[in-house]
Amino acid sequence: MPPPGSRWLAAIILLFFWCSLPASAAPLRAVVSFSILEDIVRQIGGAEVAVTSLIGPDSDAHLFEPSPDQARLLARAQLLVVNGLGFESWLARLTRSAQFDGTVVTASDGVVPITAAGAGEDAGVPDPHAWQDPRNVIVYAGNIARALAGIDPMHAEAYRQRLQGYQAELQALDERVRGELGLIPAEKRRVITSHDAFAYYGKAYGITFLAAEGINTDAEPTAKAVAGLVRQIRREGIKALFVENIGDPRLVEEIAQDTGATPGPPLYSDALSKPDGPAPTYVRMIEYNTTALKEGMRRN
Ligand SMILES: [Zn+2]
Repeated sequence: MPPPGSRWLAAIILLFFWCSLPASAAPLRAVVSFSILEDIVRQIGGAEVAVTSLIGPDSDAHLFEPSPDQARLLARAQLLVVNGLGFESWLARLTRSAQFDGTVVTASDGVVPITAAGAGEDAGVPDPHAWQDPRNVIVYAGNIARALAGIDPMHAEAYRQRLQGYQAELQALDERVRGELGLIPAEKRRVITSHDAFAYYGKAYGITFLAAEGINTDAEPTAKAVAGLVRQIRREGIKALFVENIGDPRLVEEIAQDTGATPGPPLYSDALSKPDGPAPTYVRMIEYNTTALKEGMRRN
């Protein structure tokens, strides 16, 4: 039987070795603003990063209000990834109340923004929905990988390799979408959605998106604006009407009724689906939307 002091000594030595293990043995704690960023961080971070999204799947980021629990969650994080381009209007308030002292990464840094068209409060404001162009997500992924490597240099090589694979996947996705939509005749390339979330997709693939609401979902369109849209849909014979997985579908459903069109399946605009839905990852989301849009535009 060893003297009691030596057992203490063993415990102290063990504790010493446990404490001196590199901090990176525990996953890097990242918080992201919305579900699309969560997927991109997972693709690059793998098991080395534990990521939580403030705004969940199928949820409307435009109407988000952070809770005290979420401020506490952020206080413990090392990295916060946001979209930028005005998407997270609550950001400064949240980082202040969480006293967040980690790294903040704006995923859209370096993307060429589209300026919102439309009248009223949207005019001239940058459109935040840059993720709808896969070539922009190549930029997002690069910014995220750089931030992860900066905080956790021990796994920099793993992040670099996953980034390379993911960017190649996005490149292939872009080419696939371009090929699929290339078959749609020019005069059929018109789509109606609930809110104006697809300008980047439209610019990338040559489709005109018209929306009942502006780049946000918090303001009701005027009756005059809706009547104008209904006239245009009738005049141009547009049948490709879509609700979205976020926001209120009623306006588009009413417009569909007024114009005799049938809305297609919900498009995924500002949030992924839940894991068992049709758009649980960014790549699956773009593929799903593309199939739905292609079938919708064929009816035009
Ligand atoms: Zn939106």
